[in-house]
Amino acid sequence: MSRGVAVQLTELRRTYSGVNALDGLTLHLEPGELVALLGPSGCGKTTALRCLAGLEDPDSGRVEVGGKDLTRVSTNKRDMGMVFQAYSLFPHLTARQNVEFGLQLRKQGSEQRRRRSAEMLELVGLSAHVDKYAHQMSGGQQQRVALARALAIEPQVLLLDEPLSALDAKVRAQLRDEIRRIQLEVGTTTLFVTHDQEEALAIADRVGVMRDGRLLQLAAPQELYSRPADDFVADFVGLTNRIVGTSHGATAEVLGASVPLLPGSASEGPVTVLIRPEHLSVTQEGEGAAVVISSSFLGAQGRVVVSPGEDLNQVLVQVPSAVVADFAPGDRVTVRPVGAPALAVARE
Ligand code: ATP
Repeated sequence: MSRGVAVQLTELRRTYSGVNALDGLTLHLEPGELVALLGPSGCGKTTALRCLAGLEDPDSGRVEVGGKDLTRVSTNKRDMGMVFQAYSLFPHLTARQNVEFGLQLRKQGSEQRRRRSAEMLELVGLSAHVDKYAHQMSGGQQQRVALARALAIEPQVLLLDEPLSALDAKVRAQLRDEIRRIQLEVGTTTLFVTHDQEEALAIADRVGVMRDGRLLQLAAPQELYSRPADDFVADFVGLTNRIVGTSHGATAEVLGASVPLLPGSASEGPVTVLIRPEHLSVTQEGEGAAVVISSSFLGAQGRVVVSPGEDLNQVLVQVPSAVVADFAPGDRVTVRPVGAPALAVARE
């Protein structure tokens, strides 16, 4: 099994009729690392992956894999395994034949191919389905075959472009965990493109958040979650409530209470404090200005939308599902931060 090699993208630029799809992207992947590129539609994630794959030529910048400059090397000489969102199996071939396809191109003998494809299909849990065609398999199974096919050639790098997007939620979470297990087992350096925050945090060693063709932050999931570099990253990792407050340096006054501030927060004066729904509490007490707008039961938890007062944006508060029914639209309530660190940005 191939172990990972380092990947280095340096100052990649790519323009499409005036749009900067990549605007000086620099990104390093350690050998064997799984990096997820996360960002909204159009931020350049796929273009970055396609430049690494050799499916797209950057206008400028460098692509290096294992210390070799591959910038002008054609795709078929780059030794990369790829899985895309759309199921890309050959419909006239069985699962086994799909996996053997790349090996055949590499002139492996039939005995060797058969052994390798059996091994790969076992790795992805499909030993019982080797003779099935795409139309006889579920979406999740087809993506497993695509993964087995990508890994069969022992690629230097594995590229996954939204491989789970077309699957339903349950299969999606299962296959996400499976991909991670398999990737750790084979040790192939992997770039995983997604617009799904939870998916990126769950699967990656490090997550790179992109916007407008640039990398805003590259950090381990825990780090990204607890110390987002800026406003945009914060929003992307769930710091969704924006409440006006006053910063005093290490703390800020917000909703009548003091909250500790994350490093990188605006230090003095009027600020907007970004707080997660799970870091606010709502109680029935109070004759204040806060009013419940709506409440919803979501199974494991509940959500209450509150208008905290005149001139303040509505906020979303996560509550235990058992108490959701206590909150009805129009109720006067009190909303408070629970004391978890928040990010403050200068008020516009
Ligand atoms: P999505 O999640 O929607 O796929 P993305 O983050 O992967 O988005 P890219 O597909 O890399 O973004 O596209 C980045 C920008 O470049 C977008 O504005 C897109 O419209 C543009 N773009 C990408 N490919 C082409 C192309 N072949 N021709 C013209 N414009 C393109």
